[in-house]
Amino acid sequence: MPSDLHTHTTFSDGKLTPEELISAARQAGLSYLAITDHDTVDGVAHLYENGFYPTKGVRVIPGIEFSAHHPTREIHVLGFNVDIYNSELTDKLNDVTEARWTRFSEMVAKLQKLGYDIREKDVLAVAGASKSISRSHIGRVLVSKGYFKTVRDAFSELLQKGQPAYVPHYRLEVADIISLIHQAGGKAVLAHPKLIWDDALVEEICRSGIDGIEVFYPQHNPEDTAHYLALAEKYQLLPSGGSDFHGFPTRYPTELGIFTIEDRYAEPFYQPET
Ligand code: AMP
Ligand code: MN
Ligand code: MN
Ligand code: MN
Repeated sequence: MPSDLHTHTTFSDGKLTPEELISAARQAGLSYLAITDHDTVDGVAHLYENGFYPTKGVRVIPGIEFSAHHPTREIHVLGFNVDIYNSELTDKLNDVTEARWTRFSEMVAKLQKLGYDIREKDVLAVAGASKSISRSHIGRVLVSKGYFKTVRDAFSELLQKGQPAYVPHYRLEVADIISLIHQAGGKAVLAHPKLIWDDALVEEICRSGIDGIEVFYPQHNPEDTAHYLALAEKYQLLPSGGSDFHGFPTRYPTELGIFTIEDRYAEPFYQPET
């Protein structure tokens, strides 16, 4: 049976609600599914609090995807099997989410100055239930207003680091993220290492007390996968993997279940209900 350890819901920048994601996982025949929204565990809390947990058939791993603060690189760290009610975690996430609100309004102001007709309420309408407002939401507004063909184009021209509408994230270093995940009982995994585009930095993070590395990822070619698998062995890290499913037809994977990993890679991150 296949598994997927990297997915998003409406609680960050995904299209499906957590319930919809779980039924998609069931339909796809997944055995393990990690829900890893950006800087929030609200989607997992929503499942717990609405009686959707434990979920028949699919083994859900409560997760999160943190964005680290870095001057030039995009570094994301996944947390698996975290206690979503851990108070240090929830306190920090409140700060991070609040900072995302300030950040998005700064980005909207920058875009207005650049001449784009965009308002905060446009972004909030796209963000819907998500309190973790991201550049994805802003990009979607720019596409719907006809400024760009794709969200990717909006990133290249405006939203990427170094581009004029970019505003940095809340100041959370990789080391802080790892300790936050650890004290919430979880395992920390370096997400999509290829997208850091700096292998020396990747190896530095591998040595910094992290537990795993995302070896299997849609944008990793077979050589990349072999390379990160070798790094996992070298540094005694757990190899993980996932599709980074967001649920939008314009972004691979277009469906849950078309990019999966073997269950044996997911098992070490799962804790059965007690
Ligand atoms: P943020 O959380 O505000 O930093 O926004 C990052 C999110 O934007 C990521 O989680 C991706 O879903 C999306 N994203 C990042 N880079 C791109 C890109 N080049 N094209 C389209 N979407 C992107
Ligand atoms: Mn995203
Ligand atoms: Mn990511
Ligand atoms: Mn992701």
